[in-house]
Amino acid sequence: MRLLVVRSLLPVFALAISCSSAGSQVAYDSLAQEMLSFGLRKGEAYALLTELTTIAGHRLSGSRGAEIAVDLTKTMMEQRGFDNVHLEPVMVPHWVRGPVEEVMVIDGSGGVEESLTICALGGSIGTPEEGIEAPVVEVQNFDDLRELGSAARGKIIFMNRGFDHGHLNAFAAYGGAVDQRSRGAIEAAKAGAVGVLVRSMTHAVDDVPHTGAMNYEDGTTKIPAAAISTLDADRLSGLLKERSQVRVRLRLSARTLEDVQSYNVIGQLTGSEFPDEIIVVGGHLDSWDKGTGAHDDGAGCMQAIEAVNLLKRIGLKPKRTIRAVMFMNEENGVRGGNGYPLDSRRKGEAHVAALESDRGGFAPRGISVHADSSVLERVRRWQPLFELLNAGRIEPGYGGVDIAPLVRQGVPGFGLVVETHRYFDYHHSDNDTIEKVNPRELQMGAIVEALLCYLISEEGL
Ligand SMILES: [Zn+2]
Repeated sequence: MRLLVVRSLLPVFALAISCSSAGSQVAYDSLAQEMLSFGLRKGEAYALLTELTTIAGHRLSGSRGAEIAVDLTKTMMEQRGFDNVHLEPVMVPHWVRGPVEEVMVIDGSGGVEESLTICALGGSIGTPEEGIEAPVVEVQNFDDLRELGSAARGKIIFMNRGFDHGHLNAFAAYGGAVDQRSRGAIEAAKAGAVGVLVRSMTHAVDDVPHTGAMNYEDGTTKIPAAAISTLDADRLSGLLKERSQVRVRLRLSARTLEDVQSYNVIGQLTGSEFPDEIIVVGGHLDSWDKGTGAHDDGAGCMQAIEAVNLLKRIGLKPKRTIRAVMFMNEENGVRGGNGYPLDSRRKGEAHVAALESDRGGFAPRGISVHADSSVLERVRRWQPLFELLNAGRIEPGYGGVDIAPLVRQGVPGFGLVVETHRYFDYHHSDNDTIEKVNPRELQMGAIVEALLCYLISEEGL
């Protein structure tokens, strides 16, 4: 079957590179159809993701899982005959959650009334072993917090502004709430608080807390920070309405250890005419230490490998180099993304495009273009081809965190646009596991990536 497909495509490929632009369009139509039918029948994206999530599990930077994932993805590329497979060293932060994370509601006599479901936010300090006990004050935003004035001193601040469900794009809802997680500990500490609880960044109403990066800043006291499940955020908010005071005890065992040696993992299909002109297709190999990072971003990594794999298996020989990059440490440092353009191996290379998939392995709907309008117009001319894959939305937008350093150097960036409704139900939580990923939707993302990489390879930008 595989040989038949290769044979049937060779004339198409020849046509694509030799015809007028109208002829190329026809040839690319056939190619897109072949990629679609071959990819859906024979694609490996889901098998690869199953392997990654089963063998490596979650892959927080500095963890054993991340180490296993580096070796595993290198082997995946080698086994599929990628060129120039190698590891690119990068030092990464090493934060550990530790075994203890709890919030207890304390009754009037000092006993435990009930426990609430929480998890430490990534990067948080721990508490003393006995925990910290303080009254809780609920706020919706940083203005509320500042208005508290001295009433915030010595308190645990509970940031409880939920997602705005009115947005079509789930990322807009996330963007409207995530300041509480990223800056909550800083703002609460400035107000004199001793800890912070943040409503989980999710549309879901359930008992699963969602972690994610939080920040401290120099000159401001570091206070412990945790995410509370949406159900227990509602529960805590209800208690605060019923009573004049709610005291809780917060215990976290999180801490930050010394930086650890890790790696970006790289392999490619070397260009036949312009080998030093590089098209990056990537995702981030690290995840949070909850679930197995199946959607975030095991999906994007396996789609990148599968996109290159698919081009190889179909028998295409792109003019420019198409390079799969597994970036390390997107979640809590972006050391891999920042390190990639600086690596000495980049000397003599020209990056013509960088594509990232980091919005979950959901049905692709198009491509966001992070580049000037001429690039957008250029890619829009290929829109009918992506329409064949039901992914015809070519729109200006962000590419991805890991490729942003390349984009800042002027490299056109592209992001895989997907259906987003369910992403934050899983994101950064125990819910982010392989059974939440649909094999066809995941594979479709890889097919769209393969097509975009190939078109850029043949036609330039
Ligand atoms: Zn991600």
